[in-house]
Formats: sequence, C-alpha cells, structure tokens
Amino acid sequence: MAITRRQFLRRSAIAAAGVSLTAISPARGATAVILRGPAKKVLVLGAGMAGLVAAYELTKLGHDVTVLEARTRPGGRVHTLHEPFSDGLFAEAGAARIPTNHELTLQYVKTFDLPLEPFYPSQLKAIRFDRGDREEVPIDGFTAAMTVNYGEDLGGRPDRWFKIKGGTDLLPKAFAKQLESKIKYGCPVVRIEQDANAARVVFRKSGANATLTADSVLCTIPFSVLRQIELPALPERKRDSIKRTRYDAVSRVYLQTKNRFWEEKGFNGFAFAHGAVEIWQPTWNQPGPRGILMTYARPGEAERIANLKEKDRLETTKRQLDEIFPGVRSNFERGYSKCWTEDEWSRGAWAFVGFGDFATAVAPNGRIHFAGEHLSPWFSWMQGAISSSLRAVREIDEAQYSATV
Ligand SMILES: Cc1cc2nc3c(=O)[nH]c(=O)nc-3n(C[C@H](O)[C@H](O)[C@H](O)COP(=O)(O)OP(=O)(O)OC[C@H]3O[C@@H](n4cnc5c(N)ncnc54)[C@H](O)[C@@H]3O)c2cc1C
Repeated sequence: MAITRRQFLRRSAIAAAGVSLTAISPARGATAVILRGPAKKVLVLGAGMAGLVAAYELTKLGHDVTVLEARTRPGGRVHTLHEPFSDGLFAEAGAARIPTNHELTLQYVKTFDLPLEPFYPSQLKAIRFDRGDREEVPIDGFTAAMTVNYGEDLGGRPDRWFKIKGGTDLLPKAFAKQLESKIKYGCPVVRIEQDANAARVVFRKSGANATLTADSVLCTIPFSVLRQIELPALPERKRDSIKRTRYDAVSRVYLQTKNRFWEEKGFNGFAFAHGAVEIWQPTWNQPGPRGILMTYARPGEAERIANLKEKDRLETTKRQLDEIFPGVRSNFERGYSKCWTEDEWSRGAWAFVGFGDFATAVAPNGRIHFAGEHLSPWFSWMQGAISSSLRAVREIDEAQYSATV
C-alpha cells in the first residue's frame, strides 16, 4: 500500500513516541521477547483482536493471563453475521478485507492455518453510479474505479485484497479456542484501580460486582466505552485524552435476495456509489441461488442511516440499490442493519487518538497498560489492533513496577 501523507505523519508520530514498529514485526515480534523475571499475573480487558493477541503471546511467554470480555463472544469488531440469512450465507459486520501488506494480520492467519481467498471477484462488470450517471465498469477498470472512489488506502489492484474463507471471525475464534478457560465472557469491566502493590479490576458478573487482582492490567477497551468506566488510578491528562477521542460512524445494511439476478445481466454485484458508500456482494463466491447485496456507509452517510428505524434503513437501501441493480425490490427476501455507533461495547467503528494525544494515550500508567486499534498508526485495521498489542506485550513482559504509583 502506498504511504499517503496522512499515514506518513501517523507513523512519524509513533516514532516520535518512541515505539519502534520494526521491533514488533512478526519475524522479530512477541515470540522474540524474553521473559524477564518471574511470571506476572495479567488481566486483559477485552477479547477483540488486541486482547486476544496479547493473551495468546503473554501466555506463550509464561505469564498467568485472564481475559475479561463484556460480550458473550470473542472478536469485538471482527464479527461475521450468519443471522438472519438463509442457506448458510454470511456477511461481515466489521473487518472484512486484508491487504497483502498487513503482515501482522497475515502472520496470525498463517499461524492458525486459515485459508485466504480473493476479496473481489475477477469477472463480470461492476457499476459506477455517481449522482445520476450510471457507468458500467469492466473488470479491468476496477483498479482505477476503486482508487478514484475510495482513495489510495482502499484502492489499488483488486487482487491485493483477501478475505478469510468462511468469515473473518474464524481468526478471533481460533485465538479464543487456544485460550479457552482463560476468557471470562459476559463480564463488563466497571472500574480499574491500582495501588503500590497491585492492580484491581471490578466487573459485573451475573448481576453482581466481582473483583480480580493482578500484577498488570492490559486495557483494550475502546476509549468510547472506557470513558464511562471509573478510572481513579489514571492521571487527569490520560482521562482527558480518553474523553476527547472521537470515534467514526459506520453503518452497513444487508439485503438478501432470492436469486442473483444481476449476474444474469453480467454484473458481479459490486458498485461504486457516490459519497462515502461502498456496495459489495459478499456472497459472490458462496453457494447460490440466494445472494446478499450490502451497503457500507462511512461518516457523512453512516449517521443518517443510524438515525433511521430498522424498517426505514431497509426501505431506503432497497430504493438506493434498486436504482443501481434494478430488480432488488422484486427479489428482496429479508434484511439486516449494523450501525456501529449503537453497539454498546464499541460505540463507534474506529478512532485515532490524534498526534497531540498519542504519547499520553499510549503510555502505561503504573501497572495499567493500553492497546487497541485506536493506539496504532494502522487505526481502523486489525493490523493496528495487533501491532499495538505486540507493543503492550513487550511492555508488560519487561515491566518492573516501582513501589510508588
Ligand atoms: C465496519 C468496520 C469495518 C472494518 N473493516 C476492516 C477490514 O476490512 N480489515 C481490517 O483489517 N480491519 C477492519 N476493521 C477494523 C478492525 O475490525 C478493528 O481495528 C479491530 O478489530 C479492533 O480490535 P480491538 O481489539 O482494538 O478492539 P475491539 O475489537 O473493539 O475489542 C475490544 C473488546 O473489548 C470489549 N469490551 C468493551 N467494553 C468492555 C468492558 N467494559 N469490559 C470488558 N470488555 C469490554 C469489546 O466487547 C471487544 O470485544 C473494521 C472495523 C469496522 C467497525
């Protein structure tokens, strides 16, 4: 992926913060970290990609790890939707595509032997639909259309994008299977505290408060949720940066149709719409005859969708997609929507803490360490969650806490 000016600035900010990304590449990554001193008792908060990677690597290093997760499943923002679709069809609520240069993500895909397949189809036409102008894009025009509509980050040759065969959440599920009894599900954290000798985490379990004590805490809870948690052990500056971090809205609407009528007309179900919307057919290489078309709206459009009732989300999307692929209405069977701003445990799709706040936000406070996509130059990617997690693993492994906090 070509480095844009924004990415360059982001990565420079990391270097300025003293975090070497080369030091956490998979080749020399967490597996190269040597256990310093006695094993620590570590509480990892959140079983998304950042929490799972940390729990996995810390366990390999010999530390005693427990993961507290608010949801009843692992993966956080990596979640493959099977419901309410028919015939085993599925689509992604969150992470869907992996570019060839996300070596950390690809390394773990390989660790768990998960097969990859192309994200985009290699045949049939897409449609470019821009404020009333409808243009058919042959498959060899895909690269240009993607780059023009979505910019360099999400553009480029379609064959540089992959997906995990069977759904992206096979990756967090593979970690969770290894960690098994170390993960406590349905345990939302409500307070994080520490004193000179230990860190303590208060969480809800079966309607009551419970407390666990540890040498180190790794907090991967998104700042959008963390700002509602009691954090008496954190300095004012850290709490301010947690409060200030703004999360982007993303809304996705899925329409299941009784057949893939668009293919008969030579289209693959992908379209380049105007504004901040991508249109995908996640089922292009899943068994038919039914299919799913979906919209992927980012800030600007996502909030408008989030403000609608479910019925209206489906209705406006049917109207929008019927203009692009006439026949959507008459073939529609059922629909679903996912608006990340209303997800209780994410409260948004992704965020970057910002250059000014980065050093403060990423720094550990005594025994409390931090990771998550928002604390990485690859924010909004699994790669970001993983890179920040490997940095935190090293930090915790090497930490020698002083008696005064
Ligand atoms: C719509 C969308 C599309 C995306 N597309 C891609 C893509 O194509 N490719 C890609 O690589 N990445 C993509 N991403 C980004 C990727 O999904 C994230 O960067 C990554 O999954 C974030 O991992 P994380 O561990 O930092 O956070 P999370 O996944 O949010 O994990 C945090 C965990 O903490 C838990 N939690 C929250 N509050 C509490 C609490 N109080 N107590 C205990 N646990 C709590 C949450 O339930 C969650 O499991 C996408 C994300 C979204 C939302």
